[in-house]
Amino acid sequence: GHALLEVTGLTTVFDGPGGPVTAVDGVNLSVDRGGVLAVVGESGCGKTVLSLSMLGLVAPPGRVTAGRVVLSGTDILALPESGRRAIRGRRATMIFQEPMTALNPVLTIGEQVAEPLRVHAGASRREALDAAEAMLARVGLPEPRRRMLGYPHELSGGQRQRVMIAMALMLSPELLIADEPTTALDVTVQGQILELMLDLAREAGTAILLVTHNLGVVAQTADAVVVMYSGRVVENAPVAAFFAGPAHPYSQGLLASLPQVGDLGRRLTPIPGTVPSLSALPTGCHFHPRCPRAFEPCSRQTPPLFDLPGGRQARCWLHAS
Ligand code: SF4
Repeated sequence: GHALLEVTGLTTVFDGPGGPVTAVDGVNLSVDRGGVLAVVGESGCGKTVLSLSMLGLVAPPGRVTAGRVVLSGTDILALPESGRRAIRGRRATMIFQEPMTALNPVLTIGEQVAEPLRVHAGASRREALDAAEAMLARVGLPEPRRRMLGYPHELSGGQRQRVMIAMALMLSPELLIADEPTTALDVTVQGQILELMLDLAREAGTAILLVTHNLGVVAQTADAVVVMYSGRVVENAPVAAFFAGPAHPYSQGLLASLPQVGDLGRRLTPIPGTVPSLSALPTGCHFHPRCPRAFEPCSRQTPPLFDLPGGRQARCWLHAS
């Protein structure tokens, strides 16, 4: 097919004092070339561990125990760390919620934005700095020439995220993994930053895997959506079909909690009850203690992901035919 990224059976386990807990449980997903896939769920659903696992960034005591992450034919997790680092520098980049932790506080902004070009594309120092300044102008950083000599702490949160976007898209990667890229920002700035990221990615032909808790952001940006709950994919659907009528009761609860599609400021506050602890997961369907439609098999048997018409999938016994 023309999938850019194919993730199959990805499983990540954390070794805790009470034994291993599974944070990501056999996740399958795919991202089309140039497309935008949103991975959505409440905090604790495993979406951030999933994004770190895909690029070989999960740190001990976590470890990927199974699965493949194939980017245009390259199985990322089968590469040695040096190979993965090269992929992360050039072909599959990442931006995080809090850019301050990803920027080096003692390096100038110019040196940091120029670095991918020098390390991964063999540019000279002068070429790299010129390209960095041009990129900072494109992401809308005011006075880019002067800012090049400044340090991350001199920037606002929104400006830092613009710098991260510049660094991440500098080399036109095939894939950008953006994990809650606007969550830490003022509501008024969130929409601008999202739009900037989408515009530049589109120009570069870069696909986006967007990790978010915010369905307003999904509606505004994505072509397709994967919903996670307790480490498992519970629904996978094209975005229009998803918003027209989600197939999984958890997705239905998430959508019902959204007052208005496009309302970026609101966090999900859905569904009575809380996401279960990974070390004490309910039996059967992990969602059954909160599910208004739970019935006889739900607490005993784990539902598979059922294939539905229109390229959709849902992990719910209501769809057993
Ligand atoms: Fe609800 Fe049962 Fe479907 Fe789980 S399998 S979402 S408990 S109806």
